[in-house]
This record gives sequence, C-alpha cells and structure tokens, in this order.
Amino acid sequence: MSTIADNISQVAARIRRAEQAAQRAADSVQLLAVSKTKPAAAVREAYAAGVRDFGENYLQEALGKQRELTDLPLCWHFIGPIQSNKTRDIAQNFAWVHSVDRLKIAQRLSEQRPAELPALNICIQVNVSGEASKSGCTPADLPALAAAISALPHLTLRGLMAIPEPTDDRAEQDAAFAAVRELNKSLQDSLNLPLDTLSMGMSHDLESAIAQGATWVRIGTALFGARDYP
Ligand SMILES: *Cc1c(COP(=O)(O)O)cnc(C)c1O
Repeated sequence: MSTIADNISQVAARIRRAEQAAQRAADSVQLLAVSKTKPAAAVREAYAAGVRDFGENYLQEALGKQRELTDLPLCWHFIGPIQSNKTRDIAQNFAWVHSVDRLKIAQRLSEQRPAELPALNICIQVNVSGEASKSGCTPADLPALAAAISALPHLTLRGLMAIPEPTDDRAEQDAAFAAVRELNKSLQDSLNLPLDTLSMGMSHDLESAIAQGATWVRIGTALFGARDYP
C-alpha cells in the first residue's frame, strides 16, 4: 500500500542518493511538496510526515486550503502563472513566489507586500527551452529583469526557477538544468548578489536537477499520486 508518508520516504531517499551521487552535502536540497488539486487532508498527512513547504499553482484553490490549515505552521510557495489581479492575495498569503517572469508583476508584489511581513522571497522563472515553453522570461531579458527586481524594497531576489521541456533523456535534462545554473551564476557575478536558490526538478527529473545544483525540488505526483484535472 502506498501512503503519502511512504511516498515521502521514497522521495527523500531519491533526494539523498542524488545528493550523494553529486557529492553534495546532505540536506542541501529542500523538498517543496506540490499540493495543487489535492485536498487539505493530503497536506495534513504530508505535514504529519515532516513536510513543511507546500507549492500551489491556482490562487483560489490555495487560499481555500490555507483557510482549512491555519492550525499548522506551513510555509506556502506560489509556483503558477500570475495575472496582475492576483498579486495582492499572493503578496499577503505566501512566503515565496517561484514564477515571476515580468517586472510589472514584481512591482505589484512589492507594493502589495504587507509591511509587517518579511520580504517576499522571489525566484525569476526563466525559459531555457525556447519556443517549447510559454512561461518564463528569456535568457536575454533576464539580466535587466533581475537588476530591476533586486531593487524593489519588499522583495528578496533569491534565484531562478525553471521547468524545462519534459524529456526522458538524461543528457538533455542535464543540459537544460546546467543552463539554469550558469544563468544564475552569471547574474550573481554581475549583480553581486547572493542568489542561493535554484528551484528546479520535478517528479520525473529530480536526479538530474540535483546533479546540476537544484536547491528546491518541486514534487507533486511522486508524493500525492497522479492529478485528476477537472
Ligand atoms: C505541477 C508542478 C510541479 C510538480 O510536478 P510533478 O511532475 O507532479 O512532480 C512542479 N512545479 C510546477 C511549477 C508545477 O506546476
């Protein structure tokens, strides 16, 4: 029988093996549990098994789950596409946003971040797969966007997020994740900022992402099972 707790142990073991294979420190990779389309009860089960960070793509669904789970000390991450009219609720109810890909959205998140909360942690989503992916800023636009975001007062730019085109070819996975790592490194050098975060790797490609430097892996299916979309 596969429970969420069993799945968490299996994913934790995959992460540990990948850290070792890459000669990276134990626990240098953090698990972000992607709970989109799954009920609050599933989040509760994952919490009981030790998970604290949860990622959501759809704002209304996320806010509903947050209301059901106010008794738990959870850390919420927004990882989906962002429309302008959603920024206020995101700024008020999340600790991280992984999917910022234009300045207008970042400016609104900064303006709307409540003063009593710590700065909102931001990853810029970058598109390293060209036309295959519609979300994310282009590598060419990244330096200017990162410089502008790093100057906004209520945000902390932490690094990059990417969702490369899915492939089972390990060499292709490695090449895409390595490109994200190199983009982050050159931003870090040019902006002179400590960009300590690479949000990359999902259920099917976390080993490659960890080999290339991921610090957050965003895992849905391998923890909660396949999703039924409405
Ligand atoms: C759904 C989703 C995930 C999780 O994907 P799985 O393949 O189910 O692990 C990770 N990141 C983002 C941005 C997602 O939308």
